[in-house]
Amino acid sequence: MVCGFLIAAQSIVTMNGEQINLLWKTARMVKFLEKMGGYAKEVFDNTRYIGQGLGVVFDHIRRKPVTVNYPYEKLIPSERFRGRIHFERPKCISCEVCVRVCPINLPVVDWVMNKETKKKELNSYSIDFGVCIFCGNCVEYCPTNALSMTEEYELSVYDRHELNFDDVALGRLPINVTQVAEVSAIREFGYLPDGAIQPAHEHSPGGARAGELPATILERIQKEQIQKELGDKGDA
Ligand code: SF4
Ligand code: SF4
Repeated sequence: MVCGFLIAAQSIVTMNGEQINLLWKTARMVKFLEKMGGYAKEVFDNTRYIGQGLGVVFDHIRRKPVTVNYPYEKLIPSERFRGRIHFERPKCISCEVCVRVCPINLPVVDWVMNKETKKKELNSYSIDFGVCIFCGNCVEYCPTNALSMTEEYELSVYDRHELNFDDVALGRLPINVTQVAEVSAIREFGYLPDGAIQPAHEHSPGGARAGELPATILERIQKEQIQKELGDKGDA
C-alpha cells in the first residue's frame, strides 16, 4: 500500500500542468456524479412515499362512512367481547381461585367457615372495574362457572368508586343492545358479508327506524305541550 502511494505521488510530481488540470476536473466530475446519484435516490424515495400515502387516500375514497351515531346507534359487540363480569352468587363456593389467578388479585371474596356444616359461607363478593383489566382469567378458572363475561361496555361513572361492583351489582343481568327499543343495533363489520355496509348507513331519511332522533323528540314534546295547553283552556 505504501508502495502504491509512493508510485502515485511520483506520477503526480512528474505530471505537467495540463494533466494535473485534467485530473482535477475528473475528480470534480466524480464528486458531482456522486451528489447527483444521492439526489436522484432521494427524489425516487420521496416519490415512492407520496405514492404510498396517496394509495391509502384513494383506498379510503371508495369506502362508505362508518360513523356510529352513538347513543342512538350502538354496535353489537362480538361474541368473544370481554365486558362487565356477571356473578352468580348461588354458584360461588368461596374457593378464591379467581383471586389467585387474577394478575392483580382483584376480586374480594369475604367468607366465614360454618363450623356446623364445615363449609365456607360467602358474605360478600366484589370486583372493582376501575382497576380490572378484563383479561378474563377469573372467568376462565372459576370451578363452578359462577363468573361470566358479558357484552356490557358502558361503564362510565362520575365517581370512580362507583365502579367497585358488589355481588348485587355484579349479579344484574347484562343489557343487550338489541333489546333496547330506543337504540338501533348495528352489527359489527366483521359479521357482515364481504363488501357490505351495515343497514343503518344506507338508511333513507324518510325510512322507519327503531329509535327517535333528538329533533323528533323535541317536536313531539312541543306538540304535546300545545295540545295540553289547548285542553286546559277548553276545560276552563
Ligand atoms: S378480568 Fe382479569 S383483572 Fe379483572 S378480575 Fe378477572 S382476573 Fe382480575
Ligand atoms: S373462583 Fe368462582 S367459586 Fe371460587 S370464589 Fe371465585 S367466583 Fe367463587
